Amino acid sequence: MEDKVLRKLFLGFIHIHILHHAKEKPIFGVWMLEELKEHGYNISSGTLYPILHSMEEDGLLWKEEKNVDGKIRKYYSTTAKGVEILTEARNKAYELFKEIKE
Ligand SMILES: [Zn+2]
Repeated sequence: MEDKVLRKLFLGFIHIHILHHAKEKPIFGVWMLEELKEHGYNISSGTLYPILHSMEEDGLLWKEEKNVDGKIRKYYSTTAKGVEILTEARNKAYELFKEIKE
């Protein structure tokens, strides 16, 4: 992720990926880090948590705190606005990938 253009692209993908999973079920930070790792994105919690915060501030995610074994864990779900963004991003990405895949 040293290259600036690649980094921006990856960060965009990460946002979309978060919207996708948080739409299916509420997600929490550590789970999302593992999920991203499986897709080959090794990002730190120091990168992920600010993304989750800003997405919540932008109204794309909503947060719910749950007590898990005596610890408060923050769960995020995609809002209606987030679903709209996800749909638009999916269409835009598909249109672009059709062209550049070769
Ligand atoms: Zn995934």
